[in-house]
Amino acid sequence: MFDGFLALRPNCPACGLDLTRADTGDGPAFFASFLGSLLLLAAGTWMQVAYEPPIWAYVVLFVVGALAIVALIRPLKGLLTALQFANKAEQGRLEP
Ligand SMILES: [Zn+2]
Repeated sequence: MFDGFLALRPNCPACGLDLTRADTGDGPAFFASFLGSLLLLAAGTWMQVAYEPPIWAYVVLFVVGALAIVALIRPLKGLLTALQFANKAEQGRLEP
């Protein structure tokens, strides 16, 4: 369903579903950074309490965490797109 890293194809190659209506906005990036930051904070706290490692260990943790957050964006975009179609989400309308 993807055409590039995050861009969606116009149609699903398997079933032909029109993907032009899908609009997840910045939801995938928000959830990826929110969840990833929580995990990163927990990992950093655990590392400090358990091992008191040197500062370079935190640099490594930060780089790995940042890459993990970027890697999470695409599956989350797929999930949010699927949830939009499953829940028939659409633009809000005012009753006439
Ligand atoms: Zn499909």
